Amino acid sequence: MIFKLLVFGVVVFIVYTLFFKTSRGKVEQPKKRDKKQDSDTMVECANCSVFVSESEAIIKDGKFYCSKECAGVK
Ligand SMILES: [Zn+2]
Repeated sequence: MIFKLLVFGVVVFIVYTLFFKTSRGKVEQPKKRDKKQDSDTMVECANCSVFVSESEAIIKDGKFYCSKECAGVK
């Protein structure tokens, strides 16, 4: 009886550990991706020194610009 209980306990522990690990991993990965996508890193406009978020900035020749006018794009 005691042995059966021990085996049952070990099985429950393993299942719980596996489930916890997989569910935790699934939750963590998209969170990290979202953080990268939603990162509001402020970058300085190479033309007028205005700070804009990286997602809104216009990148031209490896430099960040706040607007199309500053980037020289029409
Ligand atoms: Zn600018």
